[in-house]
Amino acid sequence: MSVVTSVDARPRAAVSPLRREVSDFPLRRPTVDQVIEAARPEEPVHCLRPGVIAATARDFLEAFPGDVLYAVKCNPDPAVLRALHDGGVRHFDCASLPEIRRVRDMFPDAVIHFMHPVKARGAIREAWERHGVRDFVLDSAEELAKIRNEIAATGVSGSLGLIVRIALPRGGAKLDLSGKFGAEADVAADLLRAARGCAKTLGVSFHVGSQCLDPLAWRDALDLAGQVIRAAGVAIDVVDVGGGFPVAYPDQEPPAPGAFFAEIEEGFDRLGLPRARLWAEPGRALVASGASVVVQVQARRGGMLYVNDGVYGSLSDAGVLGFRYPVRMLRPGGSAAEQMVAFSLFGPTCDSADVMRGPFVLPADIAEGDWIEIGQLGAYGACLRTAFNGFDRAKIVEVADKPVVGSPDFGAESLRIAA
Ligand SMILES: *Cc1c(COP(=O)(O)O)cnc(C)c1O
Repeated sequence: MSVVTSVDARPRAAVSPLRREVSDFPLRRPTVDQVIEAARPEEPVHCLRPGVIAATARDFLEAFPGDVLYAVKCNPDPAVLRALHDGGVRHFDCASLPEIRRVRDMFPDAVIHFMHPVKARGAIREAWERHGVRDFVLDSAEELAKIRNEIAATGVSGSLGLIVRIALPRGGAKLDLSGKFGAEADVAADLLRAARGCAKTLGVSFHVGSQCLDPLAWRDALDLAGQVIRAAGVAIDVVDVGGGFPVAYPDQEPPAPGAFFAEIEEGFDRLGLPRARLWAEPGRALVASGASVVVQVQARRGGMLYVNDGVYGSLSDAGVLGFRYPVRMLRPGGSAAEQMVAFSLFGPTCDSADVMRGPFVLPADIAEGDWIEIGQLGAYGACLRTAFNGFDRAKIVEVADKPVVGSPDFGAESLRIAA
């Protein structure tokens, strides 16, 4: 009988770094059409719009009545972080040491918040000791003890900030985040009492779920936070309303950002904490419009287009979650049919689950060799790429275009899969 003594660990090579390619163009930042015409790329091309990201960040910062922490996981590309910083973002919500190291390397002035409720011990020590991280989130007594012990072990003193994450009931978000993290109300109140004694700054947080279209979700969550805070009976310095702020997709038109901020401001006022600060942790809302991906059609079979990126690449949410993204066809030097038709996309891997149903509305005569620019992919696009089946190569260029935020959508009735 043989005993397995070592684990054949073949870590899934996450992503090969996207190769930057900007130099061939006379303009500092070309347009997407110029890039495609010149390079005629057979690999996906990520088109980054730093100007759009900076402007979006500026608008959010101006409108939100508190501190804005960018959720780094949404898109950790250095050029994206740089653009956000240019737009005024100084607070970063990190969930891992690599995220923390990157932000600290790039921005000595950044305030980094370690917002993962379950952290490695060594990560806590390094964050505190080497990167000046002072704020940590938790949702259990075990994690509170872990944070206290590891920080004490460093021997470095500082003003500890502790944020207790509250569990929310399942809400109206497209991407539910309840169930995995967050303490139930009674536990959260106990944690606030326990944490008050050792925290210079004490707060509560929650996450309503990603791409949450309903402003009332924040009102309900803030009311629940109020119950927890009253039950705890301790002073609160921070109320963190999390991320989840939605963006537009062809079939999802969210209310204006002001509607969300108004609910948050009212809900916050009702808590009656005049000295507390308000925080938000947006990811998607800051960066979705800031990048698109150009894919090439490698075959067409009726209403199915075989393209060179898919669910194991940057179109994970288009496949797994059925998200629809705005699209436009690129055919350098050629004209396109006026008639628009609904298509679905197959990704390049051999997995039959590598499909993006859409529908994606494109010219009726789209064919092998044409390119498709897929917009709103600055959020949860490039960062989810894997090396599965060898399709891990993509390029990244910085472009000057306006974002591809909407494509004509003729309503569900007229959408039909091309014959
Ligand atoms: C993912 C995440 C965010 C960002 O969510 P968006 O829906 O992209 O705004 C913020 N905070 C936490 C704790 C997260 O896990």
